[in-house]
Amino acid sequence: MPQTQRKPPTPNEALTKLGLTTPLHLLHYYPKQHQVIHRKKMAHLQPGETVLTIGHVVRHRIKEARGGKLVVQTWTIHDKTGRHRLMCTQFHKARLPYTSMQWRRRQNQTYAQGSLVVVSGPVKHDSYAGCLAINGEVSPISPKQIASLPSRVLNPVYRLSKGLDMGTLQDRIRAALNTTTLKDPIPAKFRQRHNLIPLSEALAQIHFPASPSQLEAARRRLVFDEFFYLQMALLVRRGQVPQRVKRQSLSRSLLKRFQGNLPFALTGAQQRTLNQVLDDLTQTFPMNRLVQGDVGAGKTVIAVGACLAVIEQGQQAALMAPTETLAQQHHAKVTSWLEPLGLKTALLTGSTSTKERRILLSELLLGHIHLIVGTHALSSAKVRYADLGLVVIDEQHRFGVKQRNALLNKGKTPHLLSMTATPIPRTLALAMHQDMDVSLIDELPPGRQPIITQVLSQDQQSHIHRLIEGQLAQGFQAYVVLPLVKDTDDSELRSAEAALDDYQRAFPKYQVGMLHGQMGTEAKTTALNAFRTGQTQILVATSVIEVGVDVPNATVMVVEHAERFGLAQLHQLRGRVGRSHHQSYCVLVDGAETEASAERLQILAQHQDGFKVAEADLRLRGAGEVLGHKQAGVPKFALADLMRDQALLKIANSAARSAVNQGRRLRCWDLMVAEAQRRGHLEKALRHTHLN
Ligand code: ADP
Ligand code: MG
Repeated sequence: MPQTQRKPPTPNEALTKLGLTTPLHLLHYYPKQHQVIHRKKMAHLQPGETVLTIGHVVRHRIKEARGGKLVVQTWTIHDKTGRHRLMCTQFHKARLPYTSMQWRRRQNQTYAQGSLVVVSGPVKHDSYAGCLAINGEVSPISPKQIASLPSRVLNPVYRLSKGLDMGTLQDRIRAALNTTTLKDPIPAKFRQRHNLIPLSEALAQIHFPASPSQLEAARRRLVFDEFFYLQMALLVRRGQVPQRVKRQSLSRSLLKRFQGNLPFALTGAQQRTLNQVLDDLTQTFPMNRLVQGDVGAGKTVIAVGACLAVIEQGQQAALMAPTETLAQQHHAKVTSWLEPLGLKTALLTGSTSTKERRILLSELLLGHIHLIVGTHALSSAKVRYADLGLVVIDEQHRFGVKQRNALLNKGKTPHLLSMTATPIPRTLALAMHQDMDVSLIDELPPGRQPIITQVLSQDQQSHIHRLIEGQLAQGFQAYVVLPLVKDTDDSELRSAEAALDDYQRAFPKYQVGMLHGQMGTEAKTTALNAFRTGQTQILVATSVIEVGVDVPNATVMVVEHAERFGLAQLHQLRGRVGRSHHQSYCVLVDGAETEASAERLQILAQHQDGFKVAEADLRLRGAGEVLGHKQAGVPKFALADLMRDQALLKIANSAARSAVNQGRRLRCWDLMVAEAQRRGHLEKALRHTHLN
């Protein structure tokens, strides 16, 4: 029995699948690249190159092949320069129109002997016919048209879908270009000032560029548009954040007592950031501030300062952290700070027992708990607050927009303070966080020394052991981080479990602890406490300790198979040491020892500054890779490249600012809004507003 075959999609169906249902869609479906096709005489053709050539038809044939499954069309062509003929072949599935007599007749007429044709495609040697061959495009051309044919064609190459071939898509886009008239929302004056070509020209040239420089000009204009409309939407969103009803004036007595109790004075950068935060809290609209500060810069005290200011107004604060370990640690710390002030704190994570949880939830609803610390459990449905005035999100890059909003929606118009150590280069911050205010803690607490960072190979274990030995002998502690928990059959990586045994054997005088994500909550707490209190001197761990863990007495960080970790992650891991005024060390063991891994790891050896690390990483890997999908709000661009197009981003940013400021008075405002809407930025921006 013959199987019923599913029909392949028609070109229209394929276009729909790609989301290309209107001419505008087609125009904005940019080629992924342009293939350079040189026009050549036949005498100069070489197998392997892609060319365009012109010749006379010597012979044209249409026949069936593969038992009638295919219709094969062949041309034999020559020009005056060629000693040899050129064969061209096209295969068509045997279905309409290729099976109709009408099509055959028309083809035979078009390609009658002696007629002039232009042929393009990759050149190969056809051993069967004993001549060069091209399997590509063939079309008739008149002698007059030849003169206007360029010597080099930039042929657009698009992402395709089943049922759609390159030629058809190119034809559709050409047709869309011919039939669509576009009004340019960007005023001519502005375009001239910033060297931007008109929109319709840009769209024509991005598909079928007349020259590489015109392609570049088109790209420049369209990249500008990508930045501009996004920036505009972000600004509009910012203007639509609802107002808090009353203007607050802050009493700072709790804050003063807290600062008085601290064993250190705030750094200049911390004080400046704290002032910015406190100032935000007195405004009529809720704070939305991102505090960026390198690992160890001291962001936690800023967060607690903000919490105290809000608590003093009679409201509650919530501090959300990405891991249970970090939440526990924060809880221990803030409790030691808040208890002396007579304030109540609580910890809520996924492993809080049902009974504890019940009590905690009722106290929270009654307003007895002033500051609650926890994981995303804080945002779960059953959790209700008496009056949530401030949400602090630590390591905000680890949370999605949804989790953040779920927590924010538990208050009326709570303030939002986000903190991150994943350094986002300024330009990126500009692109992503237009709606946020950004504070930068660009100064480390005094007395911190640069961490000596070395990249070693796996056979230098003895060196590593000597380093650890030396530090332990002085009473300091060490971390050893591995990528895996358990040994697996198909992996040569040393696991944390194996390393635990190895280290215990190598350091019989000392206690070695272990911490990884697969351990239960209690075991984790015990392990971390044992290390914190110095009962264990070496902690073998996985990347669970990447965020937050704060044990100032630790001075060595060894990361095995460092090539397995991202640079930002390694920088975070390194940040676990160097938290006191003692010299600290970081050893990155390169298990791959390739040129690429060496280059990457050397970045860390050379830079202490997380921003420098991030920018170098960005250059190596590109923005999408570095920030990952988790980084809420990283926009996807069709053409723009955040590293390469930084200058343009700045221009678009200030253009968007002035457009939004002038708003409705601007003659092209409606067009701009329509375009931002078409791109989906406005809806998305409003959906992501944390208070909608
Ligand atoms: P991060 O910015 O990485 O979250 P933390 O808030 O955990 O940093 O602070 C790192 C360490 O530095 C903590 O032990 C903290 O108590 C300490 N610290 C914070 N600010 C100062 C300061 N101004 N002077 C000295 N130590 C500080
Ligand atoms: Mg922190």
